[in-house]
Amino acid sequence: MFNTIVYSLKQNLYINLTNRCTARCVFCPRVSRPVIKEYNLRLSYEPSVEDVIGAVRNSAVYKEIVFCGFGEPTLRLYDLLEIADWLKSQGAKVRLNTNGHGNLIYRRSIVPDLIGRIDAVSVSLNAPDAATYYRIVRPDFGPQTYHAVKEFIKECRQMLPEVGVTTVGLPSLDVLQCERVAEELRTPFKVHDLWKQTESATAA
Ligand code: SF4
Repeated sequence: MFNTIVYSLKQNLYINLTNRCTARCVFCPRVSRPVIKEYNLRLSYEPSVEDVIGAVRNSAVYKEIVFCGFGEPTLRLYDLLEIADWLKSQGAKVRLNTNGHGNLIYRRSIVPDLIGRIDAVSVSLNAPDAATYYRIVRPDFGPQTYHAVKEFIKECRQMLPEVGVTTVGLPSLDVLQCERVAEELRTPFKVHDLWKQTESATAA
């Protein structure tokens, strides 16, 4: 079944806002087979704010509500903020899983918009340097994107309660070097197992 608006895994509820993305990561099944466990995240339309709120229903039963689909949630920033406002009014803890391109998409810092709405941000970095990033993530914004993502992470660290960096455990990737970058950025670091990626919600 297509058009999964929300899906639950473990104690969290995930919101699938869009299939659009500003990257084409070499490992991502967003176009070919956007499936996580029993959930098919392919969208034939993007759900409205009302659709999402109606699908979440009772946020109190979840540990976290996470914006995370196969697609980049900040492409729908203003809808995301509206939904986050509602979630916060319900007392939910709200997380954003993102590729960190938000500032490039809107040509300004979007991090102040997230204050009071997003409790935790998880940014997928997936590379220890700009050239590797460009090769693996294939971002729309060109070779400088890596530096912009690092700046985004720094801003999040300054303005938001919780920020983490993730990397997919590709065999060709120097995960230790990625961890060093996360240390330099003074953020917690997590590796997602590539082969388990479609078993757990890791799409950014
Ligand atoms: S892994 Fe995330 S950032 Fe990369 S193409 Fe897929 S949805 Fe976009």
